[in-house]
Amino acid sequence: ERELAPPIMVNARVAPLGSRLVLALLEDRTRERRVEAVRRDFVANVSHELKTPVGAIKILAEAVEDASDDPEAVRRFASRMRVESDRLASLVQQVIELSRLQAVDLVETRSEVRIDQVVAEAVDTSALDAASKGISLVVRGDTGLSVSGDPKLVAAAVSNLVSNAVAYSGERTSVVVETKGLERTVEISVVDQGIGIPTDEIDRIFERFYRVDPARHRSTGGTGLGLSIVKHVAATHGGDVRVWSVQGQGSTFTLVLPRHVNADSGIITAEAPT
Ligand code: ADP
Repeated sequence: ERELAPPIMVNARVAPLGSRLVLALLEDRTRERRVEAVRRDFVANVSHELKTPVGAIKILAEAVEDASDDPEAVRRFASRMRVESDRLASLVQQVIELSRLQAVDLVETRSEVRIDQVVAEAVDTSALDAASKGISLVVRGDTGLSVSGDPKLVAAAVSNLVSNAVAYSGERTSVVVETKGLERTVEISVVDQGIGIPTDEIDRIFERFYRVDPARHRSTGGTGLGLSIVKHVAATHGGDVRVWSVQGQGSTFTLVLPRHVNADSGIITAEAPT
């Protein structure tokens, strides 16, 4: 009897812990399955999205072959082929960025990212598109700010916001990139006077491949991945992304990232929680 007592005691104490363990394992399995389902969905979506421009390019190439004696038609098909290949190229680029986001261990790759430089590059990338629509790109606000993060991902996020602002704006409007340093964070806002986003769609625009009524802006050749990259960059950096928009008037996207502490400055209060 004395020999039996200890195991029973042990069991009694272990039981609740054990069931919690089982629950935790079950939750883990459920999460794993959900992650797996999201991954499968993503692969299916990517395959579908890749097939569309590839199929279009093939059909256009055939059309070029058939129209070889009609230079005007050849030019028209060729220009559509260029649009479709641009679409394909940005899709591939964004899929790479997204998978990098999933693989990256930010604790290891965090470094000082200079916002002036990131903004200048993003503005540079969109300068041609902006110029062709007579859109003025303005940068203002605090300078000399740094965030703590992955340089490539921060650059991708900001450049997605700027290129969206240009893509979804009409001619002769302005796009303003405004930077603001707060105690622990840096806010990068991109303000446009473009088409805006319907209120009931605002929650959905950050979903992968989601585009507000693709017909209204087919010519932009977007992929629907840009904002999901922005959202992931914000989340993996412990930051945030906010959107404010009035349909027909414009949108403001604000990316919030943890402020980088300059080791020399001694301003420890500016350090973001990790
Ligand atoms: P896309 O490649 O289509 O631009 P995003 O994920 O970047 O994909 O954006 C998703 C959708 O959100 C876009 O298709 C567009 O409908 C809407 N959107 C994004 N940015 C803006 C903006 N600045 N103004 C208006 N609509 C926008």
